[in-house]
Amino acid sequence: MENKNILISGAGIAGTALAFWLKKFGFNPTIIEVAPKLREGGYAIDFWGAGFDVAEKMEILPDLSKVDLKLLELTFVDKNNRRRGGMNYRKVVKWMNGRAFTLLRSDLAKTIYNNLDKDIEIIFGDKISKIEQSENEVSVTFQSDKTRSFDLVVGADGLHSNVRNMIFGNEAQFEKYYGYYTASYTIPNPKGDKEFSMYNVPSKQVALYPTNENTSAVLYVFASPEKLSYNHHDIEAQKQILRNQFENIGWRCADLIAKIDTAPDFYFDVVSQIQMKNWSKKRVVLVGDACDCPSLLSGQGSTLAMVGAYILAGELKNANGNFKMAFEQYQNIFKEFIDDKQLLAQKFAKQFVPKSTFGIWLRNVVVGLMFLPFVSKLLIKQFTDKLKLKDY
Ligand SMILES: Cc1cc2nc3c(=O)[nH]c(=O)nc-3n(C[C@H](O)[C@H](O)[C@H](O)COP(=O)(O)OP(=O)(O)OC[C@H]3O[C@@H](n4cnc5c(N)ncnc54)[C@H](O)[C@@H]3O)c2cc1C
Repeated sequence: MENKNILISGAGIAGTALAFWLKKFGFNPTIIEVAPKLREGGYAIDFWGAGFDVAEKMEILPDLSKVDLKLLELTFVDKNNRRRGGMNYRKVVKWMNGRAFTLLRSDLAKTIYNNLDKDIEIIFGDKISKIEQSENEVSVTFQSDKTRSFDLVVGADGLHSNVRNMIFGNEAQFEKYYGYYTASYTIPNPKGDKEFSMYNVPSKQVALYPTNENTSAVLYVFASPEKLSYNHHDIEAQKQILRNQFENIGWRCADLIAKIDTAPDFYFDVVSQIQMKNWSKKRVVLVGDACDCPSLLSGQGSTLAMVGAYILAGELKNANGNFKMAFEQYQNIFKEFIDDKQLLAQKFAKQFVPKSTFGIWLRNVVVGLMFLPFVSKLLIKQFTDKLKLKDY
């Protein structure tokens, strides 16, 4: 096997999953993560499809089941908290033969991390500041000033990938903005309320759901036809944007927004996709949101990140570490599938947050119709992943 020493930037979903598989297939991965420790809290993700199959191959389904939020019913409410529609989550999981979880993104990353081989080197609180590729190796300088050599480098560092910026250039050339911003944070839930509600006014949406026995998470999405201008490192500016959008729109929003300053895990970002023609350049390759972010509109970014990691590691194994061959195969197998997912998400973008009172009413009606037996059968077909995973 050639090219065994592989540096992975990012200990999110793609990075940890890639390290898991590389180690299993005889490589020697190292992870570098900018955060001082694994990120905690945050928003929930629906986890299903081909990524669920990868998790099964990793034998982590029992662990994931323990952190499944097991949400019961999503209720669409009006400003007086009256029910206007809803969706029975347990029924949806049943349609999928139980092959779906709702997990905190951080719990998914932590579960994969906890299942990593203990020999894998993981560096927290540092990041890559320079990458130089030569014929036979990649020389990487860390922010902490150390310089080390690796055979290959993988950017698994998310939507705003540092590795992508360094090797492929400015984010703007790959980013497709879909007209929304999203924010999320955890709040105390001392009474252990099981409430899972969603409140809309035109172009704005707030969801509240329990994340464990004594916390809940709030997830905001709002439409903005143009991209907003703010400093990405200025958290206070981001909080102010959110306050301006949601403080005065009714329901429980004023109270939820008031808790923003004590939130331990405030998250704010643009809803964009990353679309690239090529995911690798010489000895550097990208995986997960870094190269193919489908955005939250697809409801599948984390599962696709796991599938990408599995295919990339598997193709490196099949090619005995011949990275040129492996990177080409990785893209050949996976890119068309990703393009379809991104297209589906784009088509859904306009309806994601209803833009009028009529739109909100219509969404409530349509979601109700989903539960008619013949409609649900059609939907299941539509949402079944057609990608056949190889056994590596
Ligand atoms: C609100 C919201 C809802 C979503 N809902 C769903 C859903 O229902 N289902 C679903 O499947 N997906 C969902 N997603 C998408 C999903 O969260 C992402 O697609 C997934 O997390 C991508 O995994 P990743 O490992 O590529 O990136 P990430 O999970 O973002 O991980 C990237 C990692 O890289 C680290 N990093 C960043 N910069 C550097 C650096 N310079 N150096 C080193 N490390 C760095 C980060 O700290 C992080 O640990 C949702 C996303 C959002 C925002």
